[in-house]
Amino acid sequence: MNENTVQIIHLYPDLLNLYGDKGNIACMVKRLNWRGIQTNVQLCTNQDHSIDLSSADIIFVGGGSDREQALVCSLLLKKKEELIRYVENDGVLVAVCGGYQLLGKYYQTASEKIEGLGLLDIYTDAGKDRLIGNVVLQSSLFDQPIAGFENHAGRTEIGDYTPLGKVLYGHGNNGTSGFEGVIYKNVIGTYLHGPLLPKNPKLCDYILSCALKRKDANFPGLKPIDDTLENQANTYIVNRFAPEKK
Ligand code: GLN
Repeated sequence: MNENTVQIIHLYPDLLNLYGDKGNIACMVKRLNWRGIQTNVQLCTNQDHSIDLSSADIIFVGGGSDREQALVCSLLLKKKEELIRYVENDGVLVAVCGGYQLLGKYYQTASEKIEGLGLLDIYTDAGKDRLIGNVVLQSSLFDQPIAGFENHAGRTEIGDYTPLGKVLYGHGNNGTSGFEGVIYKNVIGTYLHGPLLPKNPKLCDYILSCALKRKDANFPGLKPIDDTLENQANTYIVNRFAPEKK
């Protein structure tokens, strides 16, 4: 492994991997490798207590059931200070659904209050029903709409933070605000389950570019690659669910 290798840490793939969230890791690795950039993926599981998060260029955490979230939370709270330092130092962190909820102050389920990491001043309360279905967003980060799928009981309040996007179709953070996800520094939290990145190449490249720029301030930008297939997957969902709003 050389100093240019992009180090990706996948937090608790053994506990939080609903709908194959780990497909996002495969996508990031592939899109870097296609540009000749080496990667190293470290899995931080329930058994690993010594992983140095400060060595990461990208940290990813997926989603899962309330039970698994509570387990992960107790493990992650031990790494809270390390994670705060990483985030404040512009570390790239991508958190999906249950992982997204854990970035905030708490996730209140019907029966318990799961303490969050408090990396962001946001919070989540479970509603009586689940918000399920396809989602299309318009982000201000790039023109390509973001296509995804959500399934969550939690309603997240992000206050004055920037959302990942405006909801063109679907429920988003809480079903009422009209926004989905959150962006803070190089942190992206979203309810959109995996594999999110394979059908959203612009979002994937945005995340990779943030990591590469942080590694090297003179990073010239990612080389273009052929995204015909990825764009087709994206367009199919966007046209099907939000055709008039593109
Ligand atoms: N358990 C959380 C909820 O229901 C997160 C679900 C998920 O990760 N899909 O809101």
